Amino acid sequence: MPQDLVPGLLSRATELLEQQFAALPAAGPAFESAADPESMARILEGVARRLGDNYPYFHPLYAGQMLKPPHPVARAAYALAMTINPNNHARDGGRASSEMEIEAVAQIAGIFGWTQFLGHLTSSGTLANLEALWVAGQLAPGKRILGSEQAHYTHQRISAVLKLDYSPIAADRRGRINMDALETELRKGDVGTVVVTLGSTALGAVDPLDEVLALRERYGFRVHVDGAYGGYFRLITDALAEPARWAYEAITQADSIVIDPHKHGLQPYGCGCILFRDPSVGRFYKHDSPYTYFTSKQLHLGEISLECSRAGAAAVALWATQQLLPLVSGGEFARGLAHGRAAALDLDRRLREDQTGRFQPLAAGAPELDIVVWKLKAENPEQSSDLAQKVFAACATRDLHLALVQLPLKWFEPEAVSEPYTHAAKGAELVTCLRSVLMKPEHEAWLDRIWERLTASCDEVMGE
Ligand SMILES: *Cc1c(COP(=O)(O)O)cnc(C)c1O
Repeated sequence: MPQDLVPGLLSRATELLEQQFAALPAAGPAFESAADPESMARILEGVARRLGDNYPYFHPLYAGQMLKPPHPVARAAYALAMTINPNNHARDGGRASSEMEIEAVAQIAGIFGWTQFLGHLTSSGTLANLEALWVAGQLAPGKRILGSEQAHYTHQRISAVLKLDYSPIAADRRGRINMDALETELRKGDVGTVVVTLGSTALGAVDPLDEVLALRERYGFRVHVDGAYGGYFRLITDALAEPARWAYEAITQADSIVIDPHKHGLQPYGCGCILFRDPSVGRFYKHDSPYTYFTSKQLHLGEISLECSRAGAAAVALWATQQLLPLVSGGEFARGLAHGRAAALDLDRRLREDQTGRFQPLAAGAPELDIVVWKLKAENPEQSSDLAQKVFAACATRDLHLALVQLPLKWFEPEAVSEPYTHAAKGAELVTCLRSVLMKPEHEAWLDRIWERLTASCDEVMGE
C-alpha cells in the first residue's frame, strides 16, 4: 500500500477542532469509554484482517471496475468531520458543512458553465438520477422516459418506482444511443424525457447530446444527462475525439445533470450530485414538516432534496478536495483524467497492433473516454467467452485485476452494408469480453507492466 498520509494530516486538524469547543464544561467520561480500548483495538485488528479480502483497489494493477481511491485529503477531511458527524439535512444539523456543500456544488456546476441552477449532493448517482426523473415526471406526468439500452440499468428501475413508462432505445456499434431508433420513438409524441449518457458504464460511450438537443427543438422533451461516470470529462474536451467532444460541449444546454464525485471525483462513497438548470424546479420539493427548520431562515438543503439525513462529512471531504484540486481545465485534477484517457488509448492501440492477432477491440474504433473493452479471438462466441473468463483469472494470479462485460457479438465484426438497428437486449448474440477501466492517473505510467501481465496470461491460456 502507498504510505498513508491520513493519520499525520488528521492529528493537527483534530487538535484545532477540539480547541474550538474547549470552552464547554467537561462532559465527563463519554458513554463509549465504557468499552475498553483494548477490546476495540482487538476488534479493529479483526476488521483489518477481514478487509484484506478485497481486490487492491488502491493499486495501479487494479484496472477492472470503476474504483478509484479517495484522495488522502478527502479521507482526512471525512474522518475529521466524523468528530462532529454533521447532517446536511438542515442547518441545525450541519451549519458549516451545509455552507461547504453549497460552495462545492457551485464549483461542480461551474464545470458545465452553470451559475444559476439548483443542485445538491446525494448519497449516490442512483439517488441523483431518481431526483432528475422525479422532477421530469412532475413536469410531464404520464409521459415516457427514453434511454439507450446501454444506459445505466437503474433508469428503468427508477422509472418503475416513479410509475413512469421507460423504453430502452437500441445502441449503435459503439454503445451510443441510435439516433434513428430514438427519433422513431419521439415521433409517437408521448415522450417526456430522454436520458443521455455521457460515459456509459460498460464502455464509456458518449451519446451524441448535441444531436439529441437538435431533436428537442423539433419534438419538445426534457434532456437529462447521466454523467455519473463521465461528467468530469467536460474538463478535458480537448483530449476527446469528435463526436464525443461535441457532446460535451453541448452539455450546458441540458435540463439536468448527474455527476458522481465518488466515481471520478476522488471521494469516498457515497457522494453523488444532481444539478437542475432551472432553479424554479425547487418548488416540487416543498413540504410542510413542522419540526425540521427552526433556527434559520436561510435555505436548508433538506428543502431541495428528496433524502432527509445526508452525510455532512461527504460535503466536507468534497470541499477539501476541490480546494486542493480545483475543477478547472488544465489543472492537476484535469491532468489526472487526461492520464487515464491516454492510458486507454495506449492499451487500445497495443491490442489493435498486437502481432498475434488474438485481440479484437471494438470494430467501430478507439475508446471515447478511459474504458477499454476487447474480445478474444476464437472459433465461436462460446469459446471466446470461455477464454475471456480464463484470461481474467490468469491475470488475477499475476495481480492484474481486469473486469468482464457482455456485449453484442456483432460489435466486434465488420459492419454489414445496411445494418438495421436491433436491440442487444432483445435476443442479439452476446459474447463475454475483457474490460479495463483505466481511471487512475498512474495507469498511464503502469501500462507496460499491465501489458506484460496481460500478454503473459494470454500466452498461458491461449498458447503462444
Ligand atoms: C455508476 C453509474 C450510475 C449509478 O451511480 P451509483 O453512484 O453507483 O448509484 C448511474 N449512471 C452511470 C452512467 C453510472 O456509471
